[in-house]
This record gives sequence, structure tokens and C-alpha cells, in this order.
Amino acid sequence: MATDRTPPRWPTFETVEDERRHRKQRLAAAFRLFGQFGFDEGTAGHITARDPELTDHFWVNPLGMNFKHIRVKDLLLVNDTGEVVEGDWSLNKAAFAIHSQVHTARDDVVAAAHSHSPYGKAWSSLRRTLDPITQDACAFYEDHALFDDYTGAVFELDEGKRIAHALGARKAVILANHGLLTVGRSVDEAAWWFITMERSCQMQLVAEAAGSPVLIDPTHARTTAGQVGGHGTGWYQFQPLWDRIVGEQPDLLDE
Ligand SMILES: [Zn+2]
Repeated sequence: MATDRTPPRWPTFETVEDERRHRKQRLAAAFRLFGQFGFDEGTAGHITARDPELTDHFWVNPLGMNFKHIRVKDLLLVNDTGEVVEGDWSLNKAAFAIHSQVHTARDDVVAAAHSHSPYGKAWSSLRRTLDPITQDACAFYEDHALFDDYTGAVFELDEGKRIAHALGARKAVILANHGLLTVGRSVDEAAWWFITMERSCQMQLVAEAAGSPVLIDPTHARTTAGQVGGHGTGWYQFQPLWDRIVGEQPDLLDE
């Protein structure tokens, strides 16, 4: 039987504990969704959420735990030197190298998502930014960058710094020969940009394999970016996915 549903509302919090719980719940849900979408590749991939109180700490997935198994209680809290201060599992070194630098460079960023998703990875080998070939792709128009000097797996803070520099003030960066990275003012937003960017990579690969896609002209691409690419829109787009995953897999909320 269908349950009554209410329209999504931007959350407000009485306490920092409530806000922390909310971020962790959204983070666990984002991992379950990334798992369902097939964005994982072995142990690669990480989504981070800044702690609302200890703002130089972030929550992240344990190294080697399948995205589809992650619960709120499995998340690791990591401090500004890369030490796990809550949780038992190891931390992915690349997660700290990249995400710590992105969170440091961008005060406005609550969450950052990176994984080796198939179409993002394929697209990244072309070393091109995405073109405005669809309405959805316009979310990235003049709002994503290319980090084009691949030098191996990212284990050094300096490499993370250079990625953060390439990202600049934008919502996403394509890491050449590697994959995608997106950021947001909420976990919901960062996860949504990742999901829709992966699909935009897929769509451009498909369209270019079939022919020569016609680009949306710059004026209309810019207008569309304003309509579909805002922080609130990114947050809102995630809500149907949240409703579905938490309904299907309520154990993700275990704490
Ligand atoms: Zn990676």
C-alpha cells in the first residue's frame, strides 16, 4: 500500500548533533545509490561530508567496504592530518589527499564526491570538458574544469592541492584518465551532480558515436545553466533518490 508522501523541504536543525546525523544519513544513502548505479570499482571512490562542528574534519567511507553495505555507523571521521578519530577501518589515502585539499580550499563545500564510474572515466580519457548538448548537461556549462596532467594515483597532498586549484569555484572537475569529482553545499547536491555528470558523459559519448550532436548556443546554454545548475536545484534533484533508497534499504540508517 502506498504511504503518504510530503514534498521535500530544505532541512533546518535545532542542534549540531541533528545536523551531523542528517549529513551522515545522506552520505550513507549516497553510497548505496552509487553502488546501485555501478559507480564503484574495487576499493576506489569516496564521498566526504564536512563535520558541521569540527569543520576541518570530514566523514568518509571505510577503505574496502562495498558501497552497497555502508551504514551510518560505518562512516569514518577523519581529522585535518588524516587520522581516523572515529571508526575502526582504514582510510583510503587518496580520499584524504584529494578531499582534504578540496574542503580546505572551498569553505562553501560541505560534500565532495569522486569515483571511477564507467562513463566519466571513458570521457576523462578524451581530455575535454562537456559540451552543452542537452538540457541536463547545461548544469555544467561554464561550471566545470579539466585537470589534465595525470601523473599516477593521488596519494600526495600536493596533488590534491593542484586538483582543488583546477576545480576553482566550480561544481565539478574532470580528472583526466581517471574520473569525475563533484562538490556541493550539501551531500545531496554533490551526489546529484556526480550522478547527472556521469550520465552527461554517457550521453555525449553516445551522441558522438552516432553522429555530430548540435550544441545549444551559448546564450541559451547560459540561461539553462541558471535554471538547472543552482545549489538548491541540485539538492532537490536528489530527493526522489533519497526517498527510494531509504525506503528500499532502511538499514543504511543504522547508527
Ligand atoms: Zn580516483
